[in-house]
Amino acid sequence: MTDDRRVLAVIAHPDDETKFSGTLALQARAGIEVTLAVALNGNLGGLMGAEPDVRARTRHQEMQQACDILGVKLEWLGYGDDDFMARCYDDYNAVEMDFRNLFRRVDPHLLIVLPPYDYHHHHNKVSELALNASINASNANIKSEYPASSMIPWTLYCQPQVGRAFAPSIYVDITSTYDVKIEALKAHKSQHQYIKDHHRTDIWTHIEATARYYGAACGVTYAEPFALCERYNRPAPIQELARFFPA
Ligand SMILES: [Zn+2]
Repeated sequence: MTDDRRVLAVIAHPDDETKFSGTLALQARAGIEVTLAVALNGNLGGLMGAEPDVRARTRHQEMQQACDILGVKLEWLGYGDDDFMARCYDDYNAVEMDFRNLFRRVDPHLLIVLPPYDYHHHHNKVSELALNASINASNANIKSEYPASSMIPWTLYCQPQVGRAFAPSIYVDITSTYDVKIEALKAHKSQHQYIKDHHRTDIWTHIEATARYYGAACGVTYAEPFALCERYNRPAPIQELARFFPA
């Protein structure tokens, strides 16, 4: 079932969606068409000792499985962790055109994106590209194989990695989809031990503590926080925003 409520979420690495996957599951459950675009293929993360292409294949499969659990469609852009920044510096316009075409294929009304002040340079670059491309995609003077998208989408920033200053303007009660969020995270099998060893983080404690912390801020068991993108034409009027967060 689809209607005029298309959501596009753009992230850097497979598993970044965990910051807001309870919200995506909630939206999908309500019949909203949700697409998750993953820019990088994760070919440097986890599976120690494996070849980069094996890692990329594994992480693509894990990402697809997580999307199936969440009920969202996957757009896999497939940039390598190992060459994404170089490609941006070599030909920024070509990379941005890829992102513009993503927006033209999906034609979203609401964009959820990593904030451009997150902890990792891939996150920040993907955020910048998505914000630029989401304006340019609806400019019909810019030609590509897809027709121009219909609007500059309303935009929300998801939570940056913990430790960054972040003042949420919106909280989504994800108590009813918290179990789906956990199941989707389980799909990213290659990351669990890697995050523990490399990031010194127990992912399960981290995710529960974060969801409970933001839940405590708004009086529910589990919540995910978002901030209105403050840039010109991006903050949605409350009447528009409410349509994407049905009770
Ligand atoms: Zn990431």
